[in-house]
Amino acid sequence: MDFELGEQQTMVRDMVREFARERLAPGAGARDESGEFPADIFRELGELGLLGMLVEERYGGAGMDALTYALAIEELARGDASVAVGVSVTNSVCQWPISRFGSEKLKEKVLPALARGEVLGGIMLTEPQAGSDLASMRTTYRRDGDGYRLNGSKAWITNAGVGRFFVALATRDPAEGPRGISAFVLDAQQPGVVVHPPERKMGLRSSRTCMVTMEEARVEADGLLGEEGRGMQVALATLDHSRLGIAAQSLGVAQAAVDETLRYCKEREQFGRPLIEHQAVAFRLADMNTELEAARWLTYRAAWLSERGGRYTRTSAEAKLLASETANRIVAAAVQLHGGYGYSREYPVERLYRDARVLTIYEGTSEVQRMVLARVLKELDSTAPA
Ligand SMILES: Cc1cc2nc3c(=O)[nH]c(=O)nc-3n(C[C@H](O)[C@H](O)[C@H](O)COP(=O)(O)OP(=O)(O)OC[C@H]3O[C@@H](n4cnc5c(N)ncnc54)[C@H](O)[C@@H]3O)c2cc1C
Repeated sequence: MDFELGEQQTMVRDMVREFARERLAPGAGARDESGEFPADIFRELGELGLLGMLVEERYGGAGMDALTYALAIEELARGDASVAVGVSVTNSVCQWPISRFGSEKLKEKVLPALARGEVLGGIMLTEPQAGSDLASMRTTYRRDGDGYRLNGSKAWITNAGVGRFFVALATRDPAEGPRGISAFVLDAQQPGVVVHPPERKMGLRSSRTCMVTMEEARVEADGLLGEEGRGMQVALATLDHSRLGIAAQSLGVAQAAVDETLRYCKEREQFGRPLIEHQAVAFRLADMNTELEAARWLTYRAAWLSERGGRYTRTSAEAKLLASETANRIVAAAVQLHGGYGYSREYPVERLYRDARVLTIYEGTSEVQRMVLARVLKELDSTAPA
């Protein structure tokens, strides 16, 4: 067992850490206020190779392993969680399934522009009436010549309006249930795709999230991902992998909250000494950091397992569940330890508290992670390591 990061992993982590500290953190509060999508920052991220982390080098990507990717997302989220989610989405729920399930022709067509960051991507799973129960989706597709036409509405689509290629799930006929669902790559820059105004969100305010309507939206024949009728398998495999990114994003938000609170508790004095000199405060900080470390190493292990070729559904769901719930406990404690100042927009923990809230909701709520884990547990006699 070796807990040391490799040379490339350390190099990428340190490079992204510096970028997040110098370039993301200073403007995160202002972007949260304005809600503007930071196109200039995404251009720089593209130049750094961070918008094609998981794509092979022959398609213009950086060809990183999943742990290096998780380290990069963690560091970005430490600087600005809104930026981190946009990066995570284009890498993990768009480029990863295209790399894994796309035809050679499709990969050559869309991956180079995505991986170089010339265009962003995303995924369209959720619908206004179908969230956790994905199989109840109503967006339909039908064959049209050698391609397809999609009709329906997708809700809460990250990078909508600022991205171009989206993995989109649709059903041949809702009556067919999961077996009727296929996965496509949709070019959102066509007249049949209408992007609605951005959602007015509690947090992650400078990341773009919109409802999208498809009216006879065209997908070419090579836009099918995997086989027809296997869209749910594509989605589930994608979510297994993408949950690593949300777990990593949770670590970054939680680390930022611990750092801010540590600094504050050393400076702020009450009853004649710094807050950190009060044992109840110091113990709380000790607990926050211990929980963060536990979530961090479970996340890193899930990322490492994902590279080994076997199933990692359990560990990735455990990591997403633990890291996102831990991040929420940590930001709540961070606000509490800041007292009234934690409730003020002048202090970063107020934003971190709002940004963290969605982590237990998107890419599968905590309840959905528990459903996934309950299914795995039913197949086991013991959960002890083999
Ligand atoms: C900021 C943001 C960005 C997003 N980005 C994307 C994106 O890019 N692409 C995309 O496709 N989607 C995206 N989503 C959607 C997100 O994945 C869904 O919101 C999430 O999966 C939950 O679905 P829902 O909102 O419909 O809630 P519902 O499924 O209606 O759930 C409501 C509540 O009921 C609980 N619940 C549901 N069923 C059960 C059950 N059987 N047992 C116990 N509890 C249950 C849930 O856990 C939840 O607490 C985004 C959401 C947000 C907020």
